[in-house]
Amino acid sequence: MAVYAVTGSASGMGAAVVERLVAAGHRVVTVDLRDADVVADLSTAPGRRDAVEKVLAAVGGRLDGAVLAAGLGPAPGRDRPALITQVNYFGVVELLEGWREALAAAGNAKVVVFSSNSTTTMPLVPGRAVAALLAGDAERAVNAYRIFGKSAPAMAYGGSKVAVTRWVRRRAVEPDWVGAGIRLNAIAPGAVLTPLLEKQLATPSEAKAIRSFPVPAGGYGDPGLLADWVIQMLSPAADFMVGSVVVVDGGSDAWFRADDWPRPVPGRRLRGYLRRMREFRKERR
Ligand code: NAD
Repeated sequence: MAVYAVTGSASGMGAAVVERLVAAGHRVVTVDLRDADVVADLSTAPGRRDAVEKVLAAVGGRLDGAVLAAGLGPAPGRDRPALITQVNYFGVVELLEGWREALAAAGNAKVVVFSSNSTTTMPLVPGRAVAALLAGDAERAVNAYRIFGKSAPAMAYGGSKVAVTRWVRRRAVEPDWVGAGIRLNAIAPGAVLTPLLEKQLATPSEAKAIRSFPVPAGGYGDPGLLADWVIQMLSPAADFMVGSVVVVDGGSDAWFRADDWPRPVPGRRLRGYLRRMREFRKERR
């Protein structure tokens, strides 16, 4: 039996992950706004601190893995960009920073963060908002969304997911994470039929955009199917998986970006690439 923490456990894909872990005989400490072992509001710093401390107390300082599924979708509202930023970005990174030692204590922990295929299929997400988030500056990020008017919540969603995914890939390879036996990876779903998507489909303007979005496989993803991928990413099958982004989106990303990835290192980036080679050798000496 292993011990896991799962946020966003009360609904959608988080709930489907919990169901599978419990059925396999594992212990799960759940975190959500309601119906959870730890009821905490991840949109506030005190709520996040509470979630960190209560989970650590419940598991006795050792975690075999964590799934960060709590998230908010784009919806109309002036405050929505700030809320999305707090939950989708800080609600992941502050919890993982707080749980890192407990994950390291397990020796071979696995972490799965919910990203989104909006990271590669949503155009115009402002780079300066992403940079601000990675620097820990929520206010600067939210300010960068203002010029988008009614589309600000969608941009905040895209920005939060790009930033959290980059945070995952940066941290994943660091001595504090992979060096401590923690495998940190992300899953990037496309449109999956959960209450989050249902809420978007109930908003006429968003429903139109979602229904016209190219999904080569057709229809929407099933939350259980995404949870199956997460379970695999928590298993020993992920021992050699570090900083990966697993896209499960019915082909939308490939439709738009088939030639963008894989992409060899361009000549203008060669110096940076060679620098990273040297840094690695120095670190491991
Ligand atoms: P969902 O709405 O069914 O579940 C999200 C859960 O997060 C809910 O239980 C909710 O209560 C919780 N949550 C929201 N705000 C919170 C807060 N302030 N504090 C604590 N908990 C909070 O959504 P889902 O579709 O299962 O989404 C899971 C993850 O997958 C999210 O991060 C979402 O951004 C991402 N995602 C979803 C889709 C999709 O189409 N459904 C696509 C790509 C990525």
